[in-house]
Amino acid sequence: MINIKNLHKSFGKNEVLKGIDLEVKTGEVVVIIGPSGSGKSTFLRCLNLLEQPTDGSIEFEGKNLLDKSVNIDELRQKMGMVFQNFNLFPHKTVLENLTISPIKVKKESPEAAKKKALALLEQVGLSEKQGNYPSQLSGGQQQRVAIARALAMNPDVMLFDEPTSALDPEMVGEVLAVMKALAEEGMTMVVVTHEMGFAREVSDRVIFMDAGVIQEEGTPEEIFSQPKNPRTQDFLRKVL
Ligand code: ADP
Ligand code: MG
Repeated sequence: MINIKNLHKSFGKNEVLKGIDLEVKTGEVVVIIGPSGSGKSTFLRCLNLLEQPTDGSIEFEGKNLLDKSVNIDELRQKMGMVFQNFNLFPHKTVLENLTISPIKVKKESPEAAKKKALALLEQVGLSEKQGNYPSQLSGGQQQRVAIARALAMNPDVMLFDEPTSALDPEMVGEVLAVMKALAEEGMTMVVVTHEMGFAREVSDRVIFMDAGVIQEEGTPEEIFSQPKNPRTQDFLRKVL
């Protein structure tokens, strides 16, 4: 589904991504781990062109994203993104957060958008919150709404950037459970996370990124039980 070759990204003289090659297959769950500042967020942001890559190529569903003819709005509809800080529309209700883009951007009828939104809220366990505003919800609930909102656009792939890092510990589990269910339904997912339990249990493949390159990749078993690269070993020693 996604084929990334020799991806480079610099901010001024600071080269943050130094040649990343990665393929993501349909239905695959890829987890990216690595120290802070290693370029994980920049990498995800390049995938949906929130950042413009400096060099390399990204093919998504057969299209080269760096081609000038690519419609960025269409691309973002197909790649749902969930951030650390929820980013819900504060002055819209939960239901409106889920229906506004499908109606405005995808030209869905309000009835159809509402029907789908209610089904998604049910899926993330928040049906009873449809009339509430984001500020009336806990962090874990807000993040579940953010996931449902991304899903409301019927994306082909979901990108998650540390979706549980801003949450109080007791709320991490409810968000990871929603993500796990999504993975089990076959959603293609690229997840940056420090939740090693989730990585081990849910991912098909783990990527260890450090200093702007993929230092090591493998199955969760390979990465967590027998990491080969000393940098991976050192990182895992610190976080596990
Ligand atoms: P990670 O998500 O792994 O913590 P980031 O991708 O956020 O890493 O950051 C990697 C490096 O890129 C950092 O040195 C950061 O300062 C730099 N960086 C990220 N975004 C920008 C930006 N918009 N402008 C300049 N530098 C940036
Ligand atoms: Mg980051």
